[in-house]
Amino acid sequence: MERDIKKLISQMTLEEKAGMCSGLDFWHLKGVERLGIPSIMVTDGPHGLRKQQADADHLGVHKSVPATCFPSAAGLASSWNRELLEKVGAAIGEECQAEDVAVLLGPGANIKRSPLCGRNFEYFSEDPYLSSEMAASHIRGVQSQGIGTSLKHYAVNNQEHRRMTVDAIVDERTLREIYLASFEGAVKQARPWTVMCSYNKVNGEFASEHKYLLTDILRGEWGFEGIVVSDWGAVNERVKGLAAGLDLEMPSSFGIGDRKIVEAVKAGILSEEELDMVVERILKLIFKAVENKRPNATYDKEAHHQLAREVARECMVLLKNEDRILPLKREGTIAVIGEFARRPRYQGGGSSHVNPTRLDDVYEEICKVAGDNAHIVYARGYDLEKDEADVSLLNEARETAAKADIAVIIAGLPERYESEGYDRQHMSMPESHNTLIEAVAQVQPNVVVVLCNGSPVEMPWLDRVKGVLEAYLAGQALGGAIADILFGEANPSGKLAETFPRKLSDNPSYLNFPGEGDRVEYREEIFVGYRYYDKKNIEPLFPFGFGLSYTTFEYSDLQISKKEILDNETVDVTVRVKNTGNMTGKEIVQLYVRDVESSVIRPEKELKGFEKIELKPGEEKTVSFILDKRAFAYYNTDIQDWHVESGEFEILIGRSSRDIALRDTITVKSTVDVRKRIHRNTTIGDILSDPVIGPVAKEEFARMNKNSPFMREGADEEEAMDMMIAIMKYMPLRAVVNLSMGRFTDEMLDEMVNKFNRILEDEDYELL
Ligand code: BGC
Repeated sequence: MERDIKKLISQMTLEEKAGMCSGLDFWHLKGVERLGIPSIMVTDGPHGLRKQQADADHLGVHKSVPATCFPSAAGLASSWNRELLEKVGAAIGEECQAEDVAVLLGPGANIKRSPLCGRNFEYFSEDPYLSSEMAASHIRGVQSQGIGTSLKHYAVNNQEHRRMTVDAIVDERTLREIYLASFEGAVKQARPWTVMCSYNKVNGEFASEHKYLLTDILRGEWGFEGIVVSDWGAVNERVKGLAAGLDLEMPSSFGIGDRKIVEAVKAGILSEEELDMVVERILKLIFKAVENKRPNATYDKEAHHQLAREVARECMVLLKNEDRILPLKREGTIAVIGEFARRPRYQGGGSSHVNPTRLDDVYEEICKVAGDNAHIVYARGYDLEKDEADVSLLNEARETAAKADIAVIIAGLPERYESEGYDRQHMSMPESHNTLIEAVAQVQPNVVVVLCNGSPVEMPWLDRVKGVLEAYLAGQALGGAIADILFGEANPSGKLAETFPRKLSDNPSYLNFPGEGDRVEYREEIFVGYRYYDKKNIEPLFPFGFGLSYTTFEYSDLQISKKEILDNETVDVTVRVKNTGNMTGKEIVQLYVRDVESSVIRPEKELKGFEKIELKPGEEKTVSFILDKRAFAYYNTDIQDWHVESGEFEILIGRSSRDIALRDTITVKSTVDVRKRIHRNTTIGDILSDPVIGPVAKEEFARMNKNSPFMREGADEEEAMDMMIAIMKYMPLRAVVNLSMGRFTDEMLDEMVNKFNRILEDEDYELL
């Protein structure tokens, strides 16, 4: 195949080659008929197919062919279920085969920096490990069907506000540990066929022409071999982009970009070999798609709808269940209140907007699952088009609720509240929804709120309701899934993939979101999401990793295979988990790592492993994790690599980030000996605390101290020395010269510095 592609390229004209580097139209790559190169189709995603037929747009305005709408990423991530994500991906892949689509544009692995980002519903998590695991599973699933994916939006695209011009300023460590890590795991594990660069700038350069991101890191460090495609319209300077590693411009630039490439080659600005390499990558993608094409593929719409229901049930998070109000009994009168029950909110706005094959009516699904013994009544509660509360609808809702045994309110965020293209301004639900909940709670003590929203909301009424089920944007089968959970057909097993803060101003990005003009500085650095709330000891409304079940789980017997490891070794961690309730359920067991003592600022804990297991009542299983260097490392900007600082680490096993059931410690020793070179301005304290030169230095200083004119007659030498060390801790070495009244000269200082560095070198330290 490789030889054929090279041959094909040799037969192409310069214009044809340049032409391959941009789209034919909105959704197709170009082909070259005379050489038998076909044109393939790429299209959105990610949680369902959005294949447009006639009118094309990238903002979800025009209609697309019917496809199964699965829960969006915010919901999918709450399942914490890798296999489930793979299943979803595979189902979407099948639909792509049936619709002759070669590459699905997704998933999105951007980090949820602020709850306000308009596309948070399309992103997985505030945590890079969870996000990358979810993205990798999604990619594996889609690609298992011979369909490509486009991991997007690479990188640091965490807001919609001025998304095409904003410059995200983020320091290297934060970039690596948070924003890139979310892509890194997915690229390395699942090898997406393509990666989509984002619109924004990162530290001064457009992502579409960012050589460091597109070539040095993505290809060089992570080994990515696919093509980089621009987000739709993200190209700034076409030739600069190409040279930086952007292969394909989308959509078509109608010859503009191609002409620039041709001119650049002719002018010697771009070498033809460079262009050939890009064309080679694009042709490889095209032929890979062709080889994997399944002629006459079809899919089972009904089966996919059922899958969407199963998936949606696993994505919902039970946030509150006072007096075990849930599951509901299938008897008495149940009031279902809220227009969402009849006009469901099940997906987000913009390019991911799917035209569903069918759509559940939540009210009808509740009636079906409740069965004949329950009497289900409905009140509209609010007018979806309006934010203000409507008095007559409120009165009707109150009357309906008062006569019932229980009220289930379906509320959340209307579609206009969150979409691609703009961010939210606040974290509140419409006043009409909040007022409705308060009003119903006044007349009905048994209130359950089901939330349909793509990102966290404030819940001023939380204390006045007994149950809260976060359904997120649960896709076309949301109604069945909600009903299944309400009546205990399914046991809720989702946990939050993001923190719900009590109020927006608690969020770490609050002071710097969405920035000033075209500049947004990520000043909270690595303290995103729970990393911040933990460190600052801020009580969230609901913490990262939190979610209830209808059953209970007991954790025991935490085992760490070794008490001490080198950082190039792995360690096995196991824990026993038992279902101690009386319903089959799934538990998400979370493993966090805490660096007990560190010379760099680190979060209180970081998620480094998770497993979801199913247990029957009374059943017990062992859950295992394997931890490697990355579980303990931070990104060391001095050595430009991941680095473990030797010492003790705590392994924390939790039900959530705030509910740690078991903990134990392990010692990890670094195999990379990095030390800063000693110089005139190294402090005495740093020198003395160094395990190698510290003792040598102490002797030297003691000698100097002994002969010091400041040394009082008869004074205890040791005591005097300790005092001197304490006083001089923050003094640079050169200050000794200044203060020794001529007894310690510059020459002596140089000699001392050299001696210390020689000792370190002899010990095989890599000196920076
Ligand atoms: C979005 C991408 C999408 C593309 C094509 C852009 O506006 O940011 O996520 O894949 O359009 O619709």
